[in-house]
Amino acid sequence: MTPDTANGRAITIIGAGISGLSCGIRLAEAGFAPTILARDLPPHTTAQAAAAIWYIFAAEPVTRTHAWALTTLTEFYRLLDAGHGPKTGLSLCRMIEVFAEAQPDPWYAPHIRFYERVPPADIPAGYVDALHVELPLIHPAHYLPYLLGQFRARGGTIHQQEIRQLADIRQPGQLLINCSGVWAGQLADDPAVYSLRGQTVVIEAMPAINYLDESDIDRIVHIFHRGEDIILGGSAEAHRWDLSPDPALSVAIRERALAIAPQLQTARVLAEQVGLRPGRHEIRLEREDFADGSAIIHNYGHGGAGFTLSWGCAEEVVALAHAWHEDRRRAR
Ligand SMILES: Cc1cc2nc3c(=O)[nH]c(=O)nc-3n(C[C@H](O)[C@H](O)[C@H](O)COP(=O)(O)OP(=O)(O)OC[C@H]3O[C@@H](n4cnc5c(N)ncnc54)[C@H](O)[C@@H]3O)c2cc1C
Repeated sequence: MTPDTANGRAITIIGAGISGLSCGIRLAEAGFAPTILARDLPPHTTAQAAAAIWYIFAAEPVTRTHAWALTTLTEFYRLLDAGHGPKTGLSLCRMIEVFAEAQPDPWYAPHIRFYERVPPADIPAGYVDALHVELPLIHPAHYLPYLLGQFRARGGTIHQQEIRQLADIRQPGQLLINCSGVWAGQLADDPAVYSLRGQTVVIEAMPAINYLDESDIDRIVHIFHRGEDIILGGSAEAHRWDLSPDPALSVAIRERALAIAPQLQTARVLAEQVGLRPGRHEIRLEREDFADGSAIIHNYGHGGAGFTLSWGCAEEVVALAHAWHEDRRRAR
């Protein structure tokens, strides 16, 4: 379908992170004419600091997140099967995940391409259970520019602009999509949003195990190979807002990884990164209608799962945008 501004198909999206770009692409594909307004563009959005794997962390409610995650998984597999791994920064990462308590099979086990339980004799010391899983891994430095390119190729436009309040830009009869991440608290006047600060350390690539341990939120361990480098994580500190890397935390992140893979001792540190996960008791994905005929579709609060839920949420945003147009047509 061709974007049709003349027939009221113009849509303004706030935010150029993983959420805003994924929505922009799907909306353009559905025949809308999206414009993104954003203060920060990649690589200066939250995604840049992310580890980032297809995995649900600090994102609710499960009654919606599982379906969104599966839609995203299907799209990641499609891109990989089409040979787009290198240009998108997507790969499949086989890793061990360790647990302090016995685990049932995870909900997604039937949907991923490799999964097996680690035999009791092979479970690392100090843990009760472990899984071998192969999950999509995303390198944000490649994936976000890929999304930007896809958005522009579908006719989408982007303006770098800071907005004080959504009310400042909302026009009668207009549809806005709010993908402002952790800043939705101010923009949409939503006190439920909080920062879940995360820090990661990028080091030189060298052979080591891929490893995931989220059994203790204060001592998260991620070791993920991204081809050109390895990303080490991590942290999750609620209500912390500073964006400068904390040197002591970087040392702790590296030491936890070295306890698992001592050979990484000689790997040079390439970067220390910080991002503010948009925390909320549950993701806000809903339409808000106003008396002047305008509406906002909110899509924020994805916590530590913004990549994982991205395509599923974007498709739901498109469905809500279609429904809004249909309601307006009926009301005329
Ligand atoms: C360390 C770390 C590890 C992570 N690991 C994973 C993982 O393994 N898997 C996973 O799925 N997710 C992971 N995440 C979470 C994921 O990165 C986030 O959920 C996601 O990046 C949020 O994206 P977003 O587009 O909603 O918000 P953001 O990327 O924060 O984008 C918000 C956009 O809104 C714009 N904006 C905000 N306020 C204004 C304003 N006033 N005016 C104009 N523009 C505005 C910003 O400029 C920006 O463009 C991780 C995050 C971190 C920090």
